[in-house]
Amino acid sequence: MTSGGCACGEVRYQFEGEPAATALCHCTDCQKWTGGAFTSNAVVPRTSFSVTKGTPKTWDVVGDSGKVNKHFFCGTCGSSLYTELEVMPTMACVKAGGLDGGAASLGGKIGVEFYVKDRVSYLPACEGAKQEQAFGS
Ligand SMILES: [Zn+2]
Ligand SMILES: [Zn+2]
Repeated sequence: MTSGGCACGEVRYQFEGEPAATALCHCTDCQKWTGGAFTSNAVVPRTSFSVTKGTPKTWDVVGDSGKVNKHFFCGTCGSSLYTELEVMPTMACVKAGGLDGGAASLGGKIGVEFYVKDRVSYLPACEGAKQEQAFGS
């Protein structure tokens, strides 16, 4: 079991098993939403993911796909927690910075990077990660 939560502790979550994928997303939506240069994501089946404490707030964005990207965050401290994309209806994209006990490193392995066209100029590609110009291109 991997657990995580927001900065203030009001929202806690967990998932079972290993992530199906590990992904960085460099899109400008991720940059704006988190205030960081990219998001790091543990992509896990929604059936293995659960919120164990509190109720996150949500914010919907229509992505380039024309489908809704639902963003879940803590309404008190504002931490970005996870996203559910309509284009990936069975998966949750857990923002890895919220994971406990060093799990934010995602085992040191990133499988894929999305929206590398928007990657900040000072940041090189991750060794061995598939490079996608946008999402699913
Ligand atoms: Zn919080
Ligand atoms: Zn993104």
